[in-house]
Amino acid sequence: MEKITPNIIFNISNDISDEIIKDEALKIMRACFQCGTCTGSCPSGRRTAIRTRQIMREAVLSLDEVLSDEDIWLCSTCYTCYERCPRNIPVTDVIIKIRNLATQRGFIKPAHQKVTQILADTGHGVPLGLKNNSEENQWSKARESYGLSKIPPTTHAHPEAVLDIQKLMKLTNFDKLLKLELQSTNEEK
Ligand code: SF4
Repeated sequence: MEKITPNIIFNISNDISDEIIKDEALKIMRACFQCGTCTGSCPSGRRTAIRTRQIMREAVLSLDEVLSDEDIWLCSTCYTCYERCPRNIPVTDVIIKIRNLATQRGFIKPAHQKVTQILADTGHGVPLGLKNNSEENQWSKARESYGLSKIPPTTHAHPEAVLDIQKLMKLTNFDKLLKLELQSTNEEK
């Protein structure tokens, strides 16, 4: 009897989905039945082209495309999809895990890389811009009007703590992953 030969060879690996479900809480992602409730409920989807259902499909099928899919960065992590998913899948947490995997494998946008450098330099992803007098006045006045200290008790008030943050980045190899330029500490000299 003649054998049927496929005209497309599918090379399927479970690498990506296996990585995602290493987190016990995310194992349930394989119960996704593609209803699209997450896409229909997504507040970000009202302003962007994010297709959450498609992200879930790519993740469950372990398609490499999910790592380079710009949609994974359009999620605002509001958790509406998780609240509404009929399978009770923590969709937002799956997307966060995919972002981590994408970054570990080099799929990161230049703008996000810049934010990590700002974090390394200041201890804040979005610093207050205190060197700029007008902004200092604006933020400080706003804080004082709420009965808060003029400068927040973060690295803005304790700039020496930035070195501790950089130390953590080095210990976890976060600096190498994101190609960050860090100050050398006295211990390293
Ligand atoms: Fe899958 Fe849940 Fe999204 Fe439906 S709402 S497509 S089950 S993740």
